[in-house]
Amino acid sequence: MMGDAAPVIMWFRRDLRLHDNHALAAAASSGRPVVPLFILEDGNDGAMPYGAAQAWWLHRSLEGLAARLEAIGSRLILRRGSTADIIFAIAAETGAAAVFWNRRHDACGIEIDSALKADLRARDIDAQSFAGQLLHDPTRLKTKTGGSYKVFTPFWRALQQGGEPDTPIDAPQSVLSPARFPGSDRLDDWSLLPTRPDWASRFGEVWTPGEDGAQARLSDFVGDRIGDYGRARDFPAIDGTSQLSPHLAFGEISPAVLWHSTRLDDSSRGTEGVVTFRKELAWRDFSYHLLYHHRKLDRENIDRRFDVFEWREDEEYFAAWTKGLTGYPIVDAGMRQLWKHGYMHNRVRMIAASFLIKDLLIDWRRGEQWFRDTLLDADPASNAASWQWVAGCGADAAPFFRIFNPVLQGEKFDPDGAYVKTFVPELAEMPAKYVHRPFEAPAPILKQAGVALGTDYPQPLVDHRAARDRAMQAFARIKGVH
Ligand code: FAD
Repeated sequence: MMGDAAPVIMWFRRDLRLHDNHALAAAASSGRPVVPLFILEDGNDGAMPYGAAQAWWLHRSLEGLAARLEAIGSRLILRRGSTADIIFAIAAETGAAAVFWNRRHDACGIEIDSALKADLRARDIDAQSFAGQLLHDPTRLKTKTGGSYKVFTPFWRALQQGGEPDTPIDAPQSVLSPARFPGSDRLDDWSLLPTRPDWASRFGEVWTPGEDGAQARLSDFVGDRIGDYGRARDFPAIDGTSQLSPHLAFGEISPAVLWHSTRLDDSSRGTEGVVTFRKELAWRDFSYHLLYHHRKLDRENIDRRFDVFEWREDEEYFAAWTKGLTGYPIVDAGMRQLWKHGYMHNRVRMIAASFLIKDLLIDWRRGEQWFRDTLLDADPASNAASWQWVAGCGADAAPFFRIFNPVLQGEKFDPDGAYVKTFVPELAEMPAKYVHRPFEAPAPILKQAGVALGTDYPQPLVDHRAARDRAMQAFARIKGVH
């Protein structure tokens, strides 16, 4: 269907969905023709806003979004470059009288959007932004004195008392089209998919980017697994978590939909899983709350004593960590899961991050950057907040002196070594007793398992006990700093 009123530009960002999309719903019900637009915003400061792994996801997700828009009689327009230039060019080409979008909450995004809103309004183009990327707007929850939260538990309490997130809204059945759509780039020309080598070739074994993939994952999780979530979520070999994080990172599903589809019922078993799951969603909101109040969360220690922490610069150790060759099987399995599937289980993220920061004494910011480039769910708030949390310099962080022992963690959460054996096949034949400590295995056991340490699988990069002492000494030097 076509309309001849001045169109509205629906600017998609990390909200690549039709359902529960408030900006889209407002555009569709405005009575105006709609120009759906996605901009690859790499022309602002020249930086590619997606990590290498996320570029793969973005390609697939845009294909999905374009197909869904076509099914309701519309079309997705793709452009690449400087945000404001493109918005104004499309407005000029189509005669658009309005631009709608859903709010984002990272520092760079806020800056671009606020400036753009002012510029559009100055030229008499209506600019409207909508909520929906979080359970609650990051400014909504305030402490009694009007400040921001620094500790999760009171934030969680306030979130629960703050009323239910908005009830999700349906996808529009149809949208009006303009008399003529503006020209679009070809998605393939953006070269988002890796080719030589195609290191993302295994991602498709695990992931189906797009709204349909997100809905399928949600149904599977809510139907089958949420009851046991509270227990199972800590064991990386079990399919115990939702694995919805990349879908959330691209906004293919909204947190409000997740909240409302995990209903509290009377069965106490189910209830515990639902509450724990909702609490994790609240951690995501808490991370955004922190990011909103600490715009440099990915660069600046929240605890400023850490500004003088003596990090080590050791490229060899850093490279071994990235490749999953530290000699600590649980760390290596996690880092190799990251290569293979663009994902790592939460428990293992904590262990691998702790190892980089505390055993190797490498600056948490390097780990944050590596994850940003390699995780499909890389998220400016959750990634930075979690790295600061593990390092001990974040809000409500684990104290620095709580140092994960990678062997004991492995034995506790991957008792038979199933997770390690999946991602570190060199250790497939190791008996459970030694799978997390191959360096202590007697020679005949190693021989029987077909492992020559130092050849097939590395010797440990550092001795954990000695590394722990070294970390404690480094921490002691900043403890008294004000
Ligand atoms: P589920 O257990 O099913 O949880 C449901 C949702 O809740 C997740 O999809 C996520 O959106 C949210 N959530 C769960 N745990 C956390 C948490 N600790 N902090 C914030 N939100 C949470 N998560 C990201 O989404 N992006 C990141 O870039 C990211 N980087 C991390 C880096 C480190 C060092 C650590 C320790 C954690 C990081 N996390 C990050 C948090 C967490 O590991 C992932 O959200 C989770 O593993 C995703 O898997 P899932 O969807 O199966 O989670």
